[in-house]
Amino acid sequence: MDGKILVEELLAYAKAHLSLDPLDAPWLKNRLLAALSLDGATATAVDTAYVAALDVPDTLTEKLRAYARERDLCEEGYEAIFATEVMGLLTPPPSAINALFEKKKAEEGLDAAVSWFYSLCIHNDYIQKTAISRNMEWEYRDGDNTLEITVNLSKPEKSNKEIAKLLSAPKQTEKYPACALCQENEGYEGTLTHPARGNLRTLSLTMGGEAWFVQYSPYAYYREHCIAISRAHTPMKVDATTPRKLLDFVDAFPHYFIGSNAALPIVGGSILNHEHYQGGGALLPMQKAPVERAYAVPSYPTVKLGRLSWYNSALRLESRDRAALEAVAVRVIEAWRDFSAPEVGILAASEGVPHNTLSPIARRVGDSYVMDMILRNNRTSEEYPEGIYHAHPEYHNVKKEGIGLIEAMGRFILPGRLKTQLAAIADILSGAAPYDAAALRTEGHPLGVHAAMIASLVAEHGTALTAAEAEAAVRTRVNRVCAAILDNTAVFKRDEAGLAAFERFLTLVTNA
Ligand SMILES: [Zn+2]
Repeated sequence: MDGKILVEELLAYAKAHLSLDPLDAPWLKNRLLAALSLDGATATAVDTAYVAALDVPDTLTEKLRAYARERDLCEEGYEAIFATEVMGLLTPPPSAINALFEKKKAEEGLDAAVSWFYSLCIHNDYIQKTAISRNMEWEYRDGDNTLEITVNLSKPEKSNKEIAKLLSAPKQTEKYPACALCQENEGYEGTLTHPARGNLRTLSLTMGGEAWFVQYSPYAYYREHCIAISRAHTPMKVDATTPRKLLDFVDAFPHYFIGSNAALPIVGGSILNHEHYQGGGALLPMQKAPVERAYAVPSYPTVKLGRLSWYNSALRLESRDRAALEAVAVRVIEAWRDFSAPEVGILAASEGVPHNTLSPIARRVGDSYVMDMILRNNRTSEEYPEGIYHAHPEYHNVKKEGIGLIEAMGRFILPGRLKTQLAAIADILSGAAPYDAAALRTEGHPLGVHAAMIASLVAEHGTALTAAEAEAAVRTRVNRVCAAILDNTAVFKRDEAGLAAFERFLTLVTNA
């Protein structure tokens, strides 16, 4: 490969897609020549027209990885890190990104500024658009609600070679960056154990009087999936300061929702040691759920309070009056923290360890502020050692990880292994593969985790379905499992006793 041609292509790409300032062009060319170990002679008559039409940078990152290997520019296994580092070189530094964003916002409006930043994060290979497009996705219409089910194939699996390399890699004595969310990731070269973030760029903003920043998620779970992150590496918390921070975010980005995961293990997100919120441009299933019952809050008459027609225990506050909505949201948070209803198994704490927590999710609707709040509890029992309000064990073949706010809102992110496993189960139902119940129970069988579900599907459908019927039967089962998992997460079950306890909780909010 001619490295000098590649340099010209990269320069043309940065100009077309990454807001390269003409003042920086000669400097960038020299940085690229250095990165590719080339001298200064220029390639002549390079046709770079095609790069302006690229939607994603894959052609160029592939060339960079191949070139690195060909010229031995990095150790084997580090080609992707090398390519990310070069894509980072092509991207303006954080100060310029923030200044360009503010300039665009002032001149063309917020929507144009956000679109520009989003597009830049795709074009500099931070958002993995091609990998995301490989995910499976379908909808499940269930009465008034529609669940969204995705099988996430976009997170890369490490090859055996990488795993072997990992074993022999020197261990870091001091962890840097401190975690995957810290801002010190911005521009971090990466290792085999920590993602390369040379191309990560963030936008600064103030939330609740604190310094935060916003970035996109590289493996988006939904449209324009962004993450707001505190500049301080401090633990997740949901307290009286949370509503104000969420509302500050939706004032800055009125077309995005923003929500906090519950801040306790089992029911929280996967990273609890660094305060962060999930947001984005999608409207998730729970946000479309209707209010099942409305309540008056006499001391805040401008606030509409409602209980949602939804699987788990969720409230909706809505008001044009931001301060009033914030006050009621704080009241919900504080009332829930100490609420127990032993008659339905809800205990706020045991031996001083708190169990109650919640996920507040804010958005704008026209002039109004909306805050949905999902009540959560992380208590365990002998019967459910992994969590009473977690996915129950009979569903772990489909989903075992914690049910964070995105899934609690009805968008399921199922593990990538299901793509082949569900197809193999469909083959059994259509007779394309034999049904051997004994073999499924042998250790290490690839479908072993699904043995009980397969037995139940075979009992229901037999093994002579058409291929299409078999696929539909498997999907229907997964759909039902997802709905059942949401029912598991409900602290107030949707029966008489559960709803009575829910009403009692709501009087604490409305009467205070
Ligand atoms: Zn951190």
